[in-house]
This record gives sequence, C-alpha cells and structure tokens, in this order.
Amino acid sequence: MKIAVDFDGTIVTHEYPAIGKERPFAIDVLKRLQREEKHQIILWSVRTGELLDEAVAYCKERGLEFYAVNKNDPEEEYTPDTPRKLNVDMFIDDRDVHGMADWAYIYKKIKGEETSSFGMGEPQRVRRKPKNIILRFGEWLDKLGDEIDKRKR
Ligand SMILES: [Mg+2]
Repeated sequence: MKIAVDFDGTIVTHEYPAIGKERPFAIDVLKRLQREEKHQIILWSVRTGELLDEAVAYCKERGLEFYAVNKNDPEEEYTPDTPRKLNVDMFIDDRDVHGMADWAYIYKKIKGEETSSFGMGEPQRVRRKPKNIILRFGEWLDKLGDEIDKRKR
C-alpha cells in the first residue's frame, strides 16, 4: 500500500517552520509499517527547500527513510499535467476531519487489528488513567496560582 504522511502536526507537533517534538510512536510506527508490511511511505508536506530538507533529515536521523518525498515515485518528474494530489491508498494527516488519531491506533488500523473508526460505528472510548496524587496536587497549585493572579488584577 502507498501511504502519504504529513510532517507538521502529524509526525511532530505543529511548530512550523520549526520542527516540533515527535508525536509519540510516530516514527516507530512508520518504520514498522515499512518493515513488517512493506508499505511505501511517502512524505507529503507543504515544506519546500531547506525546510523540507530539515524534515527529511530529522526522520533519517531517527532511522526513517521515505520511499518518495512530495511525489508518487522517486523518479516522478513534475510537469504541468502532473496532478498535485498524490495517488496513494491512504493519507495520514492532522488535518483529517476526525483530527489526528494517535499513532498506536493508526498502526492497529493499518494492520487490520482495529476495526472501529471515528465517527462511524463504535465510538472511540478513551480511558484516561487516573492521575497520581502528586500530579493532581501540582495542577491544583497551578490553578490556585492562576486564581490569585486574576484577583490581583
Ligand atoms: Mg500538518
């Protein structure tokens, strides 16, 4: 399968033109999909020139190399007749109508181990692990601090 994947907001958090933090498991999942399923992963980004090179280098340093970058095949030449939209089986993008799915879900979905889909069929249940007491106390202190600041104004 050919899979186009966006960079900003998808592989890393959206801090364009800077490079954000890696979204949990993004690169690991993409590498697994290449290795285990032989999928062709194409980087599909609005980045060009140096900014694009930085994104490609960021992934390469982490062991992720793309089949192609902003094109269908490594050899594809762009002509005025070339459609701008890639001809792929799937897009992974934070601008999806459902928002950005987490990468564990994406992995299972592509592997066929996940049959639910957002919005259709079973709703996605997100079970939040209860936060520990220290974390909750920290949040409470933050809120208290904000409240005090508000009252000072
Ligand atoms: Mg994006």
